[in-house]
Amino acid sequence: MKFAERVENLPPYLFVGISRAIAAKKAQGIDVISFGIGDPDMQTPAPVLDALVEGSKKVVNHKYPESEGLPEFRARVAKFYNDRFGVKLDPATEIINLIGAKEGIAHAALCFIDPGDVSISPDPAYPVYEIGTMFAGGTTHFVRLKEDNGYLIDFADIPTDVAKKAKTLWINYPNNPTGAVAPLSFFDEAVAYCKEFDIALLHDAAYTEVTYDGYVAPSVLQAKGAMDIAMEFHSLSKTANMTGWRVGFASGNPEMVNALMRVKSNIDSGLSQANQEMGIAALDLPSEWLDNNNEVYRKRRDKVVSVLNEIGVPAVAPKGALYIWTPIPEGYTSAEFAQKLLDDVDVVVTPGNGYGPGGEGYIRLSLTIPDDQIDEGLRRLAQLRINA
Ligand SMILES: *Cc1c(COP(=O)(O)O)cnc(C)c1O
Repeated sequence: MKFAERVENLPPYLFVGISRAIAAKKAQGIDVISFGIGDPDMQTPAPVLDALVEGSKKVVNHKYPESEGLPEFRARVAKFYNDRFGVKLDPATEIINLIGAKEGIAHAALCFIDPGDVSISPDPAYPVYEIGTMFAGGTTHFVRLKEDNGYLIDFADIPTDVAKKAKTLWINYPNNPTGAVAPLSFFDEAVAYCKEFDIALLHDAAYTEVTYDGYVAPSVLQAKGAMDIAMEFHSLSKTANMTGWRVGFASGNPEMVNALMRVKSNIDSGLSQANQEMGIAALDLPSEWLDNNNEVYRKRRDKVVSVLNEIGVPAVAPKGALYIWTPIPEGYTSAEFAQKLLDDVDVVVTPGNGYGPGGEGYIRLSLTIPDDQIDEGLRRLAQLRINA
């Protein structure tokens, strides 16, 4: 049997290696503390679970979902955009449900990329931007996110011939893995750039609601002219501890949303309606719920940054997302430093190069593990001798 190149060419999934390393330690009887994977440890809130229980009893929800999604779900998303960003969307044409943001991000490439086409992606980045493009037969031009530019794309770094060819440009703020945030002026710049070169602007907004210190993240759809050229991907996974329920949505330019709807309706039949009802309940959560949830992460963030600083790792507290992204001490590659943490103190972190070559020299620590494990992990990290 011969597999397609798109399968043969897949890089090993980053976290498979990490899971193996953890399993090997466990086999030796050693309990590892993992700051590896970004998957909220806290529970899905009760009103959201209640919506699933109630939704499961409705016979209409036992059927295929309507392919454009529940009108009530799209209306609730439109209200979210209006309340949260001051952006008015037509729920009938400018919003679509997703089976998690990842699904929409991967399938978006099928809307824009023909074999041989070019997509522009940040480096480091969430790997799905590149993989989706590869599945559609395209190639990715990576543009480096530089620490001294606040991990914002510098559009002058993109060669003009690449911009002329490119079909899509991916951005993601608050950013995974760097934790960087972008001002609305950056989104204005991105929209203007994409209009100049006729590129579809795709914004992964999975973390706009996971922010700290009073910072409020903008939507790309607030940028001037964004509705002409942009689509944004949202997720309730990180916002409301719902990774297991797969509730996301895309919104923006109606032709782009329609293209994604047509692709999806030929591949999946949309998100289960009971899960869309969970999404409505999640968007109905009082803002205090979100503030309290984010406050848990803020406390963890501050503890982790302070211990890293004590041992000589120059971490800085991010304003958004769920990760500490930090340069590592000199004399190590990312993989070597991650290995050292595992060998010396039984702590797992993600080597930055797993997010692209631009992540070399960095590690990522996720804040999505219970407080007692964070404390134990930090106790171990505090014992690390960097140059030993
Ligand atoms: C977690 C994450 C997603 C995926 O969200 P789902 O809705 O769970 O598929 C998308 N983008 C980024 C940057 C993420 O970190």
